[in-house]
Amino acid sequence: MADKRARRLAEFIRPLRVKPGSKVDLGEDFDPRYKGKLKKRDSSELLKNGVSLLAEYQDRLAAQDTYGVLLCLQALDAGGKDGTIRHVMSGVNPQGVHVSSFKVPSTEELDHDYLWRYASRLPARGDIGIFNRSHYEEVLVVRVHPENLERQRVPEESRGPGVWKRRYRDINNWERHLTGNGFKVVKIFLNLSREEQRTRFMKRIDLPEKNWKFSAADVRERRRWDDYQHAFSEMLSATSTPWAPWYVVPADRKWFARICAAAILAHTLIELDPQYPTVDARARRELKEARRELLKQAPEGAPADPYAAEHPDRRPGR
Ligand code: ATP
Ligand code: MG
Repeated sequence: MADKRARRLAEFIRPLRVKPGSKVDLGEDFDPRYKGKLKKRDSSELLKNGVSLLAEYQDRLAAQDTYGVLLCLQALDAGGKDGTIRHVMSGVNPQGVHVSSFKVPSTEELDHDYLWRYASRLPARGDIGIFNRSHYEEVLVVRVHPENLERQRVPEESRGPGVWKRRYRDINNWERHLTGNGFKVVKIFLNLSREEQRTRFMKRIDLPEKNWKFSAADVRERRRWDDYQHAFSEMLSATSTPWAPWYVVPADRKWFARICAAAILAHTLIELDPQYPTVDARARRELKEARRELLKQAPEGAPADPYAAEHPDRRPGR
């Protein structure tokens, strides 16, 4: 059953995966409106299944306390990062999930190397960390607006030609280090079309209750659309690795993007296959002793083992 589920998920997400070593041309290779064979009317059922699968595996991940998962979400403005996080993580235990959002770096952050602020927000073992924007901003917004490099006070000699190649290499190595230490890095790019972005911006301007979501900077960044598409294509080509591949999720339909994100995360967890710890002989003896002691404390008229009385199908001690 679990194998069949894993195979179905792997098949579903395969078209979204950027093959390591391939050269990506975002506009040519990935369609923001793609939805496979799925129909919207089936989407809430599918997402519900995905969300409960995630809850089950997150519980095991936390119990095993050996692996951690880092989900990096990248998108252009209005790409749907917030909604994706809200929906996909709706069923999981909030104690095991930490969301970190990365905005324009603070003075303290600029005072360190460019990976510092991301490293300081990594998940612990047993946890799922979500980066809402991530270290990839360092080869996206910083590349489209290179004046950011000056603000980072990177020494002249490290800023020159080849700076993006070096950053790709640093990032790949960093992710390899994390993977080797038990932290799986999952990378999702929500791929929005230019026209769908325009539609979402218009909605944010037209509806008063959405106005707060809109900022003038959004239309300014939109003017650099082609530069961003280029930076994304280069980044996807250089940093989709066997240990941490990119997934390009079609984002024009929110319902489809959410199902994809849930499927990618579920697939990762199924592959990790975290297990509940089993107790050793000594701990089992202690359990039995504690059981005997508690049995003796049953008040008059109460069942000796109230749990077993309610659940006759579960044998005591199991
Ligand atoms: P939302 O708009 O949905 O609330 P957001 O992630 O777009 O969420 P904003 O505060 O609107 O949040 O924007 C954050 C801005 O910070 C983005 O324009 C992003 O490009 C910018 N940013 C992130 N990392 C860096 C960085 N390292 N250097 C410069 N700018 C960055
Ligand atoms: Mg924004």
